[in-house]
Amino acid sequence: MTDGIRLNKVYKSYPTTPEKWAVRDFTLEVKNQEFFCLVGPSGCGKSTVLKLIVGLEKPTSGQVQRPMGISMDFQSGALMPWLTVEENVAFGLKMRGDGAQKIHDLCNKYLEMVNLQHFSEKYPRELSGGQRQRVGIARALAVEPQALLLDEPFSALDSITTDELHKDLLAIWKQTKITIIMVSHILEEAVLLADRIGVVVDGSIRGIMEVSMPRPRKDSDKDFEREAKKLKELMV
Ligand code: ADP
Ligand code: MG
Repeated sequence: MTDGIRLNKVYKSYPTTPEKWAVRDFTLEVKNQEFFCLVGPSGCGKSTVLKLIVGLEKPTSGQVQRPMGISMDFQSGALMPWLTVEENVAFGLKMRGDGAQKIHDLCNKYLEMVNLQHFSEKYPRELSGGQRQRVGIARALAVEPQALLLDEPFSALDSITTDELHKDLLAIWKQTKITIIMVSHILEEAVLLADRIGVVVDGSIRGIMEVSMPRPRKDSDKDFEREAKKLKELMV
């Protein structure tokens, strides 16, 4: 088992606006196999934090430690429309040079995990929003990473589809024992899913809340409202 994910006093500004910190003095440790949520208002730096963790952006200063295998699913799936479902899932496997049989087996395994085994020959335009998001998750999982980063994966979906995907994501998390860091701007979603929730304000962690409720959780549970309120209070 490798170490978890660690950010130590990370600062990040973008070249176009060097005077503004997108992320500042950001210190966070996420344990192996933890389900961690980052919440905060639009523009507070959540996506930048994920990009720093996965290595798509470099910190201006500070250190980032990540496991060898780490994978990110971008906002609303971001599939390649000219590729079939299976070809989309296969993309990262081809890039790293896996053989055809292995690619096929991994695609099958993870499409089955997201309940899309019968959609492998379809194109993204033939799928619903929820199905496209499932393909994005399968693609991120197919490289069998130790950590999965999700950037507002369900923000464009209706509430019934979101409920289904919440259940499935928790099942996948349990089955794969993967570390998950998920960004959300919906506090209730974080309370429903996470072991711990980090509140981001102005590029910094404002506070971290542990959710002690047992799973499966429902927003009608008696403790749910109290936990959501506690989280809201961290934001102001
Ligand atoms: P969030 O995901 O919480 O909405 P972001 O991480 O996307 O926040 O953005 C944080 C800040 O960094 C915002 O002010 C945003 O405008 C800025 N920013 C994000 N990406 C870039 C980029 N590629 N170039 C310049 N500024 C950026
Ligand atoms: Mg974002």
